[in-house]
Amino acid sequence: MLKLKLSNFIGGEFASLEENLYIDNYDPSIGKVYAQIPDSSEHEINLAVEAAQKAFHTWSKTPCSTRAQIMYRIADILESKLDEFAMAESKDQGKTLEFAKNVDIPRSIYNFRYFAGHILHMEEKATVMDNGYLNYVQRSPLGVAGLISPWNLPLYLLTWKIAPCIAAGCTCVAKPSEFTSVTAYMLCDIFKQAGLPEGVVNMVFGKGPKAGQALVSHPKVPLISFTGGTVTGKKLNETCAPLFKKVSLELGGKNANIIFEDCDFEKAVDTSIRAAFSNQGEICLCGSRIFVQKSIYKKFLESFVPKVRQLVVGDPRDPKTKVGALISKQHMEKVLGYIELAKQEGGVIECGGKRKQLDGEFSDGYFVEPTVITNIEPSCRVAQEEIFGPVVTVHPFETEEEAIDLANNNQYGLSCSVWSENGKRARRVAESIQVGYVWVNCWMVRDLRVPFGGVKQSGIGREGGEYSMNFFTEQKSICLAN
Ligand code: NAD
Repeated sequence: MLKLKLSNFIGGEFASLEENLYIDNYDPSIGKVYAQIPDSSEHEINLAVEAAQKAFHTWSKTPCSTRAQIMYRIADILESKLDEFAMAESKDQGKTLEFAKNVDIPRSIYNFRYFAGHILHMEEKATVMDNGYLNYVQRSPLGVAGLISPWNLPLYLLTWKIAPCIAAGCTCVAKPSEFTSVTAYMLCDIFKQAGLPEGVVNMVFGKGPKAGQALVSHPKVPLISFTGGTVTGKKLNETCAPLFKKVSLELGGKNANIIFEDCDFEKAVDTSIRAAFSNQGEICLCGSRIFVQKSIYKKFLESFVPKVRQLVVGDPRDPKTKVGALISKQHMEKVLGYIELAKQEGGVIECGGKRKQLDGEFSDGYFVEPTVITNIEPSCRVAQEEIFGPVVTVHPFETEEEAIDLANNNQYGLSCSVWSENGKRARRVAESIQVGYVWVNCWMVRDLRVPFGGVKQSGIGREGGEYSMNFFTEQKSICLAN
């Protein structure tokens, strides 16, 4: 069978590799190799940084209106190919086609539109002092950015970095995850069609410790925007700190979902299911630690568990499917390992608990049944560590204070959902939770103008609107005597 073979995109051209090394890329729903990804080395990274540096001279001086016009064109072309991209993302990642069509690709389009609009409407303040001296801020793009993204929301998160980067006037070398590089490769064609000048975005594919590390340690790359695991983020930070690089680290999460007895019950149950199992639970924002007030704990489980059992697991292209395949065999085994650990820790498996074995074409796919675990201490590893799969633990609590303590008793601090119709309580709890983002009576609703990021081991820095602009630019204060 002829396999899809990706090429790096450097200086506006699809480029061959110095060494002819490729990585096998699997379709997780069938467990078979269907594409080959360049296993790029320092050599390719050096070429890409050179191309990005060359492009920076012109791009950083290109008027905002021109940059925005090109970005709107990128968004329009991507929108015209939405179905094609959604199909490719689903095949590459294992996610349902429905999710790719309704979440991944629309958001990727919006990332370009949003930041194109943002730069057209940016304002800078000037201040006049008592003595008449005038202060203003000069904002300059920083240079060549290194953009590194994970496999769970491939194009969504990659474009969340590329769009603000080029809007701000920076150029970049992007390294998508080696597990999900296909839509990034397809996007390069759109860059060409949209007339993005060569070298503004360079895409280098390959492994983290090889191509990724070469990019992070490159002396001509002064800023690194990274989304991925906390362990990797720590390693990156160790490389960047002595080089005084500007870093943004969006890392892991183990997010609490707190459900009070005075919630809108149906809405809380249904949204908790989405928050737990969307994208197979492979979203950093998934609500995987569910805390339910004791008075409604039994009622909650009686409603929640049967609905979870009904979630269809299988062919990601079938519109009935709600849970697709996990990204890799290794990741599936990690997730199943946590379920075994839960059993050893005394947990009760209310539903799911094993690999989902499908027939025919999908018999080797990496499917896991949506799993609900109860009767486990919130301090157990299964309830504390990021599993990043379709597995949740449910715990009872009595008081508001206890719920806050339970939610905060975790190394991560990315997001949290709070369910209560009592506005004062919801606000008190929201303001006491140590995370970067709290949703009250909803989940994963994103306004791109507000800051996004984590506290504790969920990361450093904020992205979104002006926060992304602050990252990709340097701000100099200038004081003029009168
Ligand atoms: P990962 O850390 O394994 O990989 C992320 C990226 O880093 C990949 O492109 C990888 O090739 C690269 N990489 C790996 N080692 C590297 C190194 N030494 N130097 C440079 N680059 C390196 O993460 P993953 O498994 O792809 O993604 C899952 C993780 O991402 C989860 O922990 C999840 O919570 C997190 N995540 C966080 C957010 C957020 O916004 N906070 C969003 C999505 C995913």
